Amino acid sequence: MAADTLDVFFHPDVLSMRSPDGLFERVPSPLLDVQIPFAEGPDRIANVHSVMSRGPSAGRFRWHEGRHATDAEILTFHTEPYLEELKAGDVEGRWFTDTTHLPAGGLKGVRAGAGTALAALENVMAEGPGGKGRMSYAIVRPPSHHAAADVADGYCFLNGVAMAALQAQARGLSRVAVVDWDVHHGNGTQEGFYDRTDVLTISMHMNHGAWSPASHPQTGEVDEIGTGTGTGYNINLPVPFGAGNGAYEAMMTEIVVPALRAYGPDLIIVSNGQDASQFDPNGRNLLNLKGFHRLADIVARAAEELCDGRLLIVQEGGYNVAYTGFCAYATALGFLGQPLDLDDPLGFYPEDPALARATVDALIARHPLLDAQGAWKNPAG
Ligand SMILES: [Zn+2]
Repeated sequence: MAADTLDVFFHPDVLSMRSPDGLFERVPSPLLDVQIPFAEGPDRIANVHSVMSRGPSAGRFRWHEGRHATDAEILTFHTEPYLEELKAGDVEGRWFTDTTHLPAGGLKGVRAGAGTALAALENVMAEGPGGKGRMSYAIVRPPSHHAAADVADGYCFLNGVAMAALQAQARGLSRVAVVDWDVHHGNGTQEGFYDRTDVLTISMHMNHGAWSPASHPQTGEVDEIGTGTGTGYNINLPVPFGAGNGAYEAMMTEIVVPALRAYGPDLIIVSNGQDASQFDPNGRNLLNLKGFHRLADIVARAAEELCDGRLLIVQEGGYNVAYTGFCAYATALGFLGQPLDLDDPLGFYPEDPALARATVDALIARHPLLDAQGAWKNPAG
């Protein structure tokens, strides 16, 4: 059923932090006359805000001011020594990895990102019309899903998604499912709940493997399935470079939604990255506006069916400064079940449907947690 309006959460401080220009490394290339802006910058989110404020369906979005995360909230997921490291790094700025830079004074923006995700969660949990959850979208940066309890990685410092999952449980919900379609593996979220059954983590991503033994030892492969009692509750869905709308939609309908049905979550959190778009500098998958719109529509219907519409959407990646805004707008309309009312300003690269089919068939065939039809082998039986 289509909804009329979507609650969106934003805090201006998320735009306050900016790292020095340069590719991804701490030293700008001396070979270039013209450096490019650091990929994870405020402009990408400023454009998400502007497309949603000025697009044809702007009237459907109800804006709310977010807030900063407190130390106590941060410590529900992160460790105290790590928080102290962030505070120390905030004084003069610090590179936590070759790609992960906290500018001096940047912790204010980091706190606003995570805190605004929590503000959106509180709105989801507030009883809406008919006792249903109020679907809410936190438009934030820096992203969440690479941050582990004590590790900064991949532009991420605080994992607002993980903090929101824990806050939902502290408020009485038993089971949370995280659906991550950012083009990168959600390793920090995976790590945070790896031994637990009460948070089901599902990550769709390009098959990029581990990029750093120190910050990102996880591979994102299908054999990372959880540990101890959590075995079976982490589902990685890596797809090759070039996978597009068809492959992602097939994963959603054939694998993710049936797994959500089998799990029975009380809340679904979407790690909503747009870097699987075909124009992203940091990704090699081929989604466009239609693809993002479709994914969002499917997961919102699942939330309606399975958990009274309790759906929290948290912005993750998306590094094409212009296209990310359009793609995020498309997801917002998809979550609402409303038709896409913008022409795609860029999308032109057609995906081969046979390749999409073969990609998903091959993934299902080699996945230890899926049966031959793609159904999750629910450890609870
Ligand atoms: Zn990403």
